Amino acid sequence: MSDIECREMLNQLPVSLLCQRVDTGDIYANPACLTLFGATQDEEGFISSVQFFDAQSRQALKGDVHPFISCTGRKPTELTVRVNSNARNLNCAITGQRLEIKGVAWVVLHIRSVQDNDVSILQTDNSPLANHLAFSRVLSGISSQLINVNTENLDTLIERSLGAFGEFCGVDRCYLFQFSDNKSAMDNTHEWVAAGVEPYKDELQNVSMSDLPYFENAIKQQHVFKIDDVRDLPEEASLEKAEFTRERIQAVLCVAVHISDELFGFVGCDIIGSPYQWRDYDIRYLKLIGEMLSNSLENVANRLSLHQMKSALEEANQQLAHLANSDGLTGIANRRLFDESLDKAIQRGCRELKPVSLLMVDVDHFKDFNDTFGHAVGDEALRRVARALESCCKRSDDLAARYGGEEFAIILPDTDSEQAKHVASDIMQAIAQLNIAFASSPTSDTLTVSVGVSTQLCRPSLTLSELVTQADKALYKAKGNGRNQVASL
Ligand code: GH3
Ligand code: MG
Ligand code: MG
Repeated sequence: MSDIECREMLNQLPVSLLCQRVDTGDIYANPACLTLFGATQDEEGFISSVQFFDAQSRQALKGDVHPFISCTGRKPTELTVRVNSNARNLNCAITGQRLEIKGVAWVVLHIRSVQDNDVSILQTDNSPLANHLAFSRVLSGISSQLINVNTENLDTLIERSLGAFGEFCGVDRCYLFQFSDNKSAMDNTHEWVAAGVEPYKDELQNVSMSDLPYFENAIKQQHVFKIDDVRDLPEEASLEKAEFTRERIQAVLCVAVHISDELFGFVGCDIIGSPYQWRDYDIRYLKLIGEMLSNSLENVANRLSLHQMKSALEEANQQLAHLANSDGLTGIANRRLFDESLDKAIQRGCRELKPVSLLMVDVDHFKDFNDTFGHAVGDEALRRVARALESCCKRSDDLAARYGGEEFAIILPDTDSEQAKHVASDIMQAIAQLNIAFASSPTSDTLTVSVGVSTQLCRPSLTLSELVTQADKALYKAKGNGRNQVASL
């Protein structure tokens, strides 16, 4: 019998056969087998893409465990495997054996789809109770991982959860979609696919809901979209039918996911290549997965907003602290911060046996200035004086503060009297440079200040008021000596 005759004989048989000639390694699929995988026209395409996977672990079967190798015995070998070809995934029972046909040796695999028997091929006990118990174990495995979910591992855990569900239910693809804020579009955010199944996540981004109106209505109104056989979709679902056909999907199940009572998106799964009758408990299980994912997403979102609230609160506190320490008119340090800083400077000076200097600065004839130009111009002058004083504080510990009214104070830690007088003369110069016109001043043509300098070696008995009193006296002296000058005791 020739090879052709042999093939013609196999073609007659009403069962799906996939055969390999042992001597040449040629593979041949009979028409029933091609039909089973939806490849009637293209035997070569079918044969080049056919792959075998372990039904449970979904590992590709290669080497000794490949059916063409493991079925070389002369007695039939029974296998349960997952076969993928032409993007169709089928759980199959295979009976394989070596046959001699007129002196030619073949390994012949008789392939039967057990897809219709669903996940139960993987389980010895197929009762609803056993199924439910098995699913509870899957759920508790997922939930124990999701307890520790955080922003970093959220994506991985969602994908793992989809995978655990997908594998348990024996589907080909399992996914999570998120709706846009106005619910007019959706993104495929997470996807799991079985071995050999083409992923579609990257393509399914920003999908407009108007492209899938039948689906949109079902998921938004009934919260479940269940299609056992895509060919049975009604006329008004022609857009959905085209999309599912493009992805070779034959059965789909999606359930809506809500977060805090608001529609967030949906979880779903696909079966490729053959129809499937979804059962009530498939829907229940998928809903449970959806609820677990929504809890995790909500948890992470809550934690994130808590974190954001904490940051906002910290910032508000900082602003509050700044406000509490700064003078409303000039923006420089206020009296509160002055007192606090001078105390600290004295304490630090005591520890390090260093001197501290204090300058009291009072604007000359400011009452007249206000009377002449008005209070608003007076305020502006105070702001400019404050900025000028601040610019004379060269070291990070130096502090210019508004002491009250038109009187300012400058704390100079670790500064002796010579250095302090130097800063005081810088101040005189800076104020002169402001060049604020004040023709009616008895002292000068422009606004001037008087400065009293006080320097003390720090000691535990030195008080804030002692330093202030001494600087005040020096200031009084400067005023008495004709203003627009620096004085010390
Ligand atoms: P002296 O040279 O002796 O210091 O004379 P002076 O007029 O500056 O002193 P006096 O204490 O008599 O007057 C201080 C003036 O400073 C009176 C007050 O109206 C004015 N002043 C105090 N605080 C403010 C303020 O916040 N804005 C304005 N525009 N004026 C202020
Ligand atoms: Mg004054
Ligand atoms: Mg004064």
